[in-house]
Amino acid sequence: MSLLPRLAAPLLALAIAGCAMSPARDAAPAPVVLISLDGLRATDLDLGLTPNLARIAAEGVRAEWMTPSYPSLTFPNHYTVVTGLRPDRHGVIHNTMRDATLGEFKLASKEAVSDARWWGGEPIWVGAERAGLPTAAMFWPGTEAAIGGVRPRRWSTYDEKITADERVDRVLGWLAEDASTRPRLTTLYFEKLDKASHDRGPDSPEARAALQTLDAVIGRLLDALRANGQLDRVNLVITSDHGMAPVPPGQAVAAEDMVDPADAESVTRGQSVGFTPRPGRTAAAEAQLLGRHAHYECWRKAELPPQWKYGTHPRVPAIVCQMDEGWDAVSRSSVAKHAAEPAGGSHGYDPQLPSMRAVFIARGPAFKRGARIPAIDNVDVYPLLARLVGIKPAAHDGNPAALTPALAAP
Ligand code: AMP
Ligand code: ZN
Ligand code: ZN
Repeated sequence: MSLLPRLAAPLLALAIAGCAMSPARDAAPAPVVLISLDGLRATDLDLGLTPNLARIAAEGVRAEWMTPSYPSLTFPNHYTVVTGLRPDRHGVIHNTMRDATLGEFKLASKEAVSDARWWGGEPIWVGAERAGLPTAAMFWPGTEAAIGGVRPRRWSTYDEKITADERVDRVLGWLAEDASTRPRLTTLYFEKLDKASHDRGPDSPEARAALQTLDAVIGRLLDALRANGQLDRVNLVITSDHGMAPVPPGQAVAAEDMVDPADAESVTRGQSVGFTPRPGRTAAAEAQLLGRHAHYECWRKAELPPQWKYGTHPRVPAIVCQMDEGWDAVSRSSVAKHAAEPAGGSHGYDPQLPSMRAVFIARGPAFKRGARIPAIDNVDVYPLLARLVGIKPAAHDGNPAALTPALAAP
């Protein structure tokens, strides 16, 4: 008799005994709930307004902050968190895009958002579903498209009218299911803080109220999980996509003043501004745009600052201008409106700026209790998720070691 069967028999007996002793729920791997609070700044956790997020950090892990990828916008960064790929690699290079074959991509276009051809790489739910593990989405950019022919088992069309409480209730319903259908991975998304911060500024009473509302919603999720005896059996991962910077009224540049519209067309406005020179007008467009200006700087796509790891994807326009913190690029017709409106907020600035820092906190059986870890990069979340879900990660740009100090059993 070889050594292997002699060792295997007692081990098998132990495993069977272990299963018989614990209820099926205990034996099942812990579900992962990935939450995004759009526009939550790293420093928002220190305002004393978020007791529930503070408790998650105290009972789990908090990274000093999480650096977003370039550009620090919603769709590129949500999709980076779930693929571990830089926007330049996964192809969702901006919230507004133009593609030679696919045409225009806008957040408001249901058709574009649900067209898998815009979404490259393999998001975590696709890998999980391919491994036979159930997944569910209470919104997340990308979950409405059949990427590689696969959607989360449960998903819905993005609808802001579904309240934050309803979203949490749906997630709680899924988590209460039997292990055979309970999602191994669930996403949960909230836009409320981002909206209030854009409209009134990140330090406004309106943004503070949105922050407190969302913290209370997270508190409801925690209370319900605790009441079900599930709190210590779920791995909660709470992230944001980017931070937010105040924008004083009138800090706006007209895109038409950046370059003559007869020489280049602006594909995007806002903070990361892309221009496509008109046919035969490249030299004229470059002469007006390239280099440093009063409130922005422009580069050819191949010459962008290397730390942004951006500019090789065909969807990145030929010239990219980066607005300085606190400045917006708008159409000329909107300049007067910008000056007349109250102070607001924007993101889309250099990801290295402290104001753009996002959040990573986590709690659950996989995580240490009360650990503080150094800043991470948002490409590092995907290999962690793959590990928690129990699948082999697809190719990614992250560092799997970055989050091992957060794990109870690295
Ligand atoms: P932004 O601030 O422009 O980077 O984008 C934030 C906005 O994205 C939020 O106000 C949401 O309304 C919107 N958003 C988030 N998820 C989706 C989605 N799945 N489909 C369409 N819009 C979305
Ligand atoms: Zn966002
Ligand atoms: Zn936003």
